[in-house]
Formats: sequence, C-alpha cells, structure tokens
Amino acid sequence: MTVHAHPDDESSKGAATMAKYVAEGVQVLVATCTGGERGSVLNPKMDKPEVLADITNIRRAEMDRAREILGVDQAWLGFVDSGLPEGDPLPPLPEGCFGLQDPEEAAKPLIKLIREFRPHVMTTYDENGGYPHPDHIMCHKVSVVAFERAGDPEAYPELGEPWQPLKLYYNSGWTRARMLALHEGMLAAGLDSPYAEWLEKWSDRDDRGDKITTRVECGEYFEVRDDALRAHATQVDPDGFWFHIPLEMQQKVWPTEDFELARSLVDSPLPESDLFAGIREKVGSH
Ligand SMILES: [Zn+2]
Repeated sequence: MTVHAHPDDESSKGAATMAKYVAEGVQVLVATCTGGERGSVLNPKMDKPEVLADITNIRRAEMDRAREILGVDQAWLGFVDSGLPEGDPLPPLPEGCFGLQDPEEAAKPLIKLIREFRPHVMTTYDENGGYPHPDHIMCHKVSVVAFERAGDPEAYPELGEPWQPLKLYYNSGWTRARMLALHEGMLAAGLDSPYAEWLEKWSDRDDRGDKITTRVECGEYFEVRDDALRAHATQVDPDGFWFHIPLEMQQKVWPTEDFELARSLVDSPLPESDLFAGIREKVGSH
C-alpha cells in the first residue's frame, strides 16, 4: 500500500517500483488522501478557465488513467486539498482542509483501508513531507498513526479487524547523489544538464541520501512511470525538463527508486533491494 497526498504524487514517487511489483504479481493499492482540489494547473497547455472550473472531476479522470497505466488499485481517503500556501507571511490554511486535521482522527479512513486490504508493506513520506506541502506532512503523520495503530485490537475497534503491516518506508525524494549522477551523465553525453543551478544551491537543501536503506531496481519501468505522470495532464508539462533526460540515461546512471526503511517488524539485513525482504520468507510467496 502506498499512501500519497494528491493525485499525481503516486506517479512521481515510487511509480516504477509499483509497476515492477505489479508485474511480479503483487497487489498494489494507492491510497490518495485528498482530491487535489486546490492544485494549480502546472501544464501551460491545460491552463484554461474551463479546466480550472472542473478541476476536481478532471483530476479524478486523470487518476483513473494513471491507475490503469500502473496496473494498481486506488482508493480516495476523502480529504480536501490544503493548497500550497504562498506569500510572506504565509496565509492561514483554508478551514476544513487536510493539513489542519488532527492526525489521530484523520488516520481513521486509512486504518479502515489497512484492515480491509491487509498490506504487508506501506510507503509514505518522511516527516518533512519530502517537500514542505502541508498535505504531504499530514500524509506522513496519518500514515505513521495508521501503521502504529491498525494492528492494535484496542484502537479504533469500530474500524474492522486489526491488521499489522510489517514494514513502513518513506519515499526518498531527490538526493544530491542522484541529481549529480544525472547531471554528469548528461554532460558526458554532450547534452545540456538542467541541474547545474540546483546543484550549486544544493547546500540550502535537506539531503537525506545517507538515510536510504533500500534501492529497488526498476529502470525497465521508468517508461510506465512517465506514461502515468503524463496522464496527470493538468499537473505535468509534457515538455517539462524532467522529460528532457533520455530514459536510457536514467536507466544507466540511476536505475533504482530509493526508500528509507522507517519501521520494521521483520529481520532484513540493510541495505536492501526489495521492499518485501524479510517478509517473503515469513508469509510465503506473493
Ligand atoms: Zn502532492
């Protein structure tokens, strides 16, 4: 089970890993916390009044398409997007939005879903949200509450039979090592790198490269990941710089998606290359 804040996050964080496990016969469920109602239109070709007026329905249809491409199941947890606050000072979050929820309360739909779907592995974001969007930080909080309480028969008895997932991972976002590898790969191939400026300013950024425990080889699914990303047409510019890095280059210089093992109830020596390490032995084949 992968828990994400908005529709489109599942296609940019760990999507190739999901596609790989789906191909191996693993059942994968994406839990999407919010409907993405307050997301801006980030693709200039889609930035039209009629799109903005119907953004919730359009993003649902985009999610359906991405779900089909990835071969996963998907469930909405039913919260309302907080939007990304901008300005100085930052404006308050809109009333009732996901970012303002009490995590113990907001974990309920996720706990219910865990008890129904019974995942062995969960993924979510780190405590900084991967990037500091209030919905991403709340996604982290509710995921941790749900992981810790779903297996407790005393907790939330009205939400179904207890089920304890065995491992909780955080998606690793950009690390300096990954960006540098792609940058150097582009230069070595005589291509322009879009990363030079980012790398120069890297010292301001939080680098969690040393926290990575698990690298999943999934280069052959990068194309599926990109197709799923492009399905979120209001959120992703198909001419954006990410798509300028040739797939073969990405497959050569950084063929993995990376994760931080945050909680584990099984023995699996680190570093790992499989989210199910230590679990396959315990529960038999998937
Ligand atoms: Zn998001």
